[in-house]
Amino acid sequence: MLGNTIQGRFYQAGSTAVQDAKLHKNGDIWQLVLGTESKLLTVEIESVSDRLAGIAHKIILKDIGVFESSDNDGIDAMLETENSFFSRLTRVESSLPLVFVFAVLSVVILVSLYRFGIPALANGAAKVTPSSVLTLMDASSMQVVDRVFFSKSELPEKRRDEIRVLFDELIEQSGPQKLPFRLLFRDGGELGANAIALPGGTVIITDQLIKLSKSDDEISGVLGHEIGHGELRHSLRQIYRVLGIGFMISVIGGDSGQLVEDVVAQAVALGNLSYTRNFEIESDHRSAELMVGMGRDPFAFIELLKRMKKEKDDKNDKKETNWYSTHPSTFDRMANVKKFVDSLSPR
Ligand SMILES: [Zn+2]
Repeated sequence: MLGNTIQGRFYQAGSTAVQDAKLHKNGDIWQLVLGTESKLLTVEIESVSDRLAGIAHKIILKDIGVFESSDNDGIDAMLETENSFFSRLTRVESSLPLVFVFAVLSVVILVSLYRFGIPALANGAAKVTPSSVLTLMDASSMQVVDRVFFSKSELPEKRRDEIRVLFDELIEQSGPQKLPFRLLFRDGGELGANAIALPGGTVIITDQLIKLSKSDDEISGVLGHEIGHGELRHSLRQIYRVLGIGFMISVIGGDSGQLVEDVVAQAVALGNLSYTRNFEIESDHRSAELMVGMGRDPFAFIELLKRMKKEKDDKNDKKETNWYSTHPSTFDRMANVKKFVDSLSPR
């Protein structure tokens, strides 16, 4: 029976007395034998402290006290035969390093769910969102942004026609479309020189951006970039990311009621459509691809961005509203696009 008995000491709860004791395992039952007594006291193990070098194991016996033993191997051997989930759980809980590992793991899981889980869900949701819902989103978004930011374009009709030709040329170049793309002209108001793509294929360009441009290629490049955001469903994915899982479910589930439309409109209006760096890179590449395909300058829109930055800096403009602000150059766009264009040309 030696293998089933651990020698140690017992500290009785509520007392300073220490006595020699044995902890004995009989089937599934733990029994405590005090001193030289022959009486067996059935006990319940509440927790076992982790094995630390040179420190005796402490076994908390429910309600009665603590059993301590330096017979680490004996305790390990006996606990090994304890296979209940509870016994494993108490061992984990009483082990500080393990608790720490679990805490770190929990944080890692949460962060990765947020970083990878939500975007993954958002991407999936964006793929299955019916286009009828997208059209509704665009319509209600336009109502809000027109009320909050934009006013009627003052651009001469002739100039608007020229830019519509540029836009149509891009749509033609981009191939068969799932989205019903359309171009709208607005005075940008507070949003200044800007261009925005809504989830359903509506692209808005402001008078200020057109006035700031020095060539059709610059405008075309910006429009190509926005078409990219639409085609790649960046706008929708971004809205889903910002608004979360519940919102995705209600949209996909067909609950495209007034509430849903309002929320989307607000999200667009509040400038939640500033994209992640990856979305920006993807759209830059799409723009460059379309521009090269049409024999236009794929780098022109970056020159426009630089001019916007300069204008903003010159005016010491703190407002984060124009196209440059929502397309921050936290990376070298020019170098990135150059690399991409190089990869397009045959060797
Ligand atoms: Zn963009």
